[in-house]
Amino acid sequence: MGIATEELERRIRSCTLCRLHRRRKNAVPGEGPLSARVMLVGEAPGRNEDLRGVPFCGAAGRFLDELLKIAGLKREEVYITNVVKCRPPQNRPPRDDEIEICVKNYLRKQLEIIRPELIVVLGRTAAKALLNEEVTMAVDHGKERKVRFSGRGIRAFVTYHPAAALYGAATRLKLREDFSRLAEIIKAMKA
Ligand code: SF4
Repeated sequence: MGIATEELERRIRSCTLCRLHRRRKNAVPGEGPLSARVMLVGEAPGRNEDLRGVPFCGAAGRFLDELLKIAGLKREEVYITNVVKCRPPQNRPPRDDEIEICVKNYLRKQLEIIRPELIVVLGRTAAKALLNEEVTMAVDHGKERKVRFSGRGIRAFVTYHPAAALYGAATRLKLREDFSRLAEIIKAMKA
């Protein structure tokens, strides 16, 4: 892990820039190699992530592992993080000002350091933060978009948040189908 990342992680873990720091147990900077070609971005840490300080480690994380396998990816080859690094109370959606502060100070820096070739955008909050527009998941999931960043366009693939699938078989199916589509993109990237 590079010095810049260690410093960034240290700053995230002690950050008090928005109200979400007040009730967190642990901030969750993200996890994965700096050489990752694929970055996954979700919404915010949940209860398990807050307790352990690592991303996607609960039921949604187990489902994400299954989805990564479908896409032909190993968890240890991707970088996984969230739009905001601290758990919102009762898992409410992060507010616009919280997203703006956290993205500006941390997610953008993570993008600068890792420079992923592809971002997998997990859910509406991540889509809004990264694509700068409201998306309708029913219409936009499973599609490629571009994230504008530092004068370049990074390939992005929009899909549902894995946690959404825990409440419905239909969303689980759509996610599996999206990650099968993602497998084609990954295969072409690795060719
Ligand atoms: S959510 Fe982000 S900006 Fe807010 S306290 Fe946590 S690390 Fe800082």
